[in-house]
Amino acid sequence: MDLRRDITAQAVLADRRRFLKAAATWGPDATVDLGPLSADTAAAARVVRKGGAVPLVELSGLADRALVPALLHMTKAQASVTLDAPWAPPQPVALTDASLSDLLYRALRHAESTGAADLRAALDACRGYRRILAGAPRDPDDPLDLRYDLTHAPAETPRLTFLVTRNCQLRCRYCMVKLWDEDAVDADHLRGVDVLFAGEADTVRMQFYGGEPLLRFPLIQQLVRRGRQLEGETGKRLAIILITNGILMTPEVATFCRDHDVEVLLSLDGGPEVTNQGRLPHTRPPAHIERADGDTHGAARRALGVLKAAGARTHVILTITPDQAHTAAHGFAHVASLGADMLQICYAMGVGWGAQATETLCEQFGQIIDRHGDDIAAGRLMWVNLWRNEPVLIDTALQLETDGRVCFMNECMFEKYKQGRNYGVTHIDAIDDLRHVGSTRFHNYAMLTAIYGDRRPKYRDIMLDNLAVGEAVRGYLAEHLGDRLGGLPHAGET
Ligand code: SF4
Repeated sequence: MDLRRDITAQAVLADRRRFLKAAATWGPDATVDLGPLSADTAAAARVVRKGGAVPLVELSGLADRALVPALLHMTKAQASVTLDAPWAPPQPVALTDASLSDLLYRALRHAESTGAADLRAALDACRGYRRILAGAPRDPDDPLDLRYDLTHAPAETPRLTFLVTRNCQLRCRYCMVKLWDEDAVDADHLRGVDVLFAGEADTVRMQFYGGEPLLRFPLIQQLVRRGRQLEGETGKRLAIILITNGILMTPEVATFCRDHDVEVLLSLDGGPEVTNQGRLPHTRPPAHIERADGDTHGAARRALGVLKAAGARTHVILTITPDQAHTAAHGFAHVASLGADMLQICYAMGVGWGAQATETLCEQFGQIIDRHGDDIAAGRLMWVNLWRNEPVLIDTALQLETDGRVCFMNECMFEKYKQGRNYGVTHIDAIDDLRHVGSTRFHNYAMLTAIYGDRRPKYRDIMLDNLAVGEAVRGYLAEHLGDRLGGLPHAGET
């Protein structure tokens, strides 16, 4: 880096023409160290940018209430900054929308874990940071000041989860999704497919969740067919996943999934004992839903056989609770022995794990590596955890609700703790495309803290815990398997 330390903000502003003339002779990596933040910094930074150089600003020593707004100002000025905050990285940060979001997320996490009230207040005041940077007015109907921010383009693949029903034949002990007798409005969801394809992204993703999506198989067929039709018409690439408990899996469903390249995520938590203890039948399902029997393991196992026989792409999800952490490796081996060659371990969210259970889970990951590492490294077994975008608690997919509203999908990991419906971003009827609809980890975490963490300290602790579990398992995989794989694959969108 060509770092120029001898130019002050005042000097830049005092003779802009001279500065720009000098800057025109510098190389492309020139950086002008403007020193500590002052009243002149923002204006000087803009001149430095105009000259083709990077302004570097020192934000050390600022109180939290001043630091957070300063970050926004410096983002607007496209500056790089140095910070000495405990939540900030030691090296200079080039402020962009993405790096600002990352810094704010780190700061929020720090505020939540230490109780730093000033920092938290400063972050609350800039929860809608994209709106603030754009100088847009606040939406008086948006209690969280987040909606405007979700109208600006994220870098990720647009993903929309279609929550086709809130019904399910089961009541799994660890399920945090609020279940009641309500199905999606078909027209809203069909519109959701069109909206997903209307943006500029080359790749889009549809995800079918519930409740149990196969309770709405005719609707899923319509949505998938529409998606594949639009894929052909637009030339975009469409990825489709469907999560299911397997109870309604039939050769017809499996063949449809194969023929339309729908990846099926089948829930099966390990051996019969663990699965049947955790995945319980709904004792009083609505009249139109057939009551499941208690052998949920048997149902999922049969479904796996049907899917494999049809040649459908199948991926088994094992959800592990803290009290069952010690069973993860055994469950993984059991499911692999049934012929599953794509597996993912999900740690239950919305419940506290604590250090001990987290360590146990990491040890279980170690056992999986010992037993299956060669198959994983050789690509014979796909361990989807290698691609999981941890911490999953703040995964940024959006969800199309049964009532047609677009919500943050990650709220489903806590929604049982709240009366009423999820925080809505918009209604699918109110938007023409998803080009600009996406979220960031900061926004997702800000939503959870505002709705749940601020209501009960217990929820705040569970969130911090779940974030820590995600980072622990990701870190463990990087340390113990990363070398053999030449580094972990890019954590994609799970
Ligand atoms: S099958 Fe899925 S939606 Fe149904 S209760 Fe279990 S976890 Fe919840």
